[in-house]
Order: sequence, then C-alpha cells, then structure tokens
Amino acid sequence: MRLDAVDPALPRCAVCGNADLYKKKDFPHWLGMTILVGACLVSVFTYGMYEKWLTWTILIGSAAFDGLLYLWVGDALVCYRCNAHFRGFTATEAHQPFELTTGERYRQERIRKEQLKK
Ligand SMILES: [Zn+2]
Repeated sequence: MRLDAVDPALPRCAVCGNADLYKKKDFPHWLGMTILVGACLVSVFTYGMYEKWLTWTILIGSAAFDGLLYLWVGDALVCYRCNAHFRGFTATEAHQPFELTTGERYRQERIRKEQLKK
C-alpha cells in the first residue's frame, strides 16, 4: 500500500497509527538488482570477446547509473507493523533507516497474531 503523507512530518502511520516507521529509498530492489546482474552478464560476453574497454564501460557505466539513481530517487517511510509506504514527507531525526531489532519485534508480533487465529 502506497500513500502520500497526510502530515509532512508524519509522526505516525496514517493506516494503523503505529509510531515506529523507518526510512528507505523509494526504489524497487528488483530493478537495482536487474541492472547489476544484467551488466555483469553482458560484461562476461564482452570480456570473452576481448573487448576490455567495452567491458569496463558497461561495468563502470552501470555502477555510475546505479549511483545516479540512488541520488535521484527520494525516500519513503514504511510502517514496521502494516508495511504501508508513505512518500512526500519532510525527513526529521525521528525517521531512521530500518532497524533489525525493531523489525524482528514486529515480525514476532505478526507470528503471534497468526498463531492466535488458529
Ligand atoms: Zn501502519
């Protein structure tokens, strides 16, 4: 679920009211991985054809393109509990990157809820 932030500071999740949110790049991981893997696969063939400059151009070019995408895309806030994504917020100190311990706490919460349903 993707929503634009109602309050630009977004202190809480607009869907479930949870205050634990994390910040991440608003960029699909599969696309970044596809660019990386595609460049590596193509470079194997160009290297096999002894086209070293083309190989380096592909590898460095894909890394530079990936870096530009990283700088170009904005951030998204994600709720730990309901996984709602929010864009268009004003970043504050409260918006930190994903923290494994907090994520694990909410994952365990989801597991306990599923077990209680049975
Ligand atoms: Zn939520």
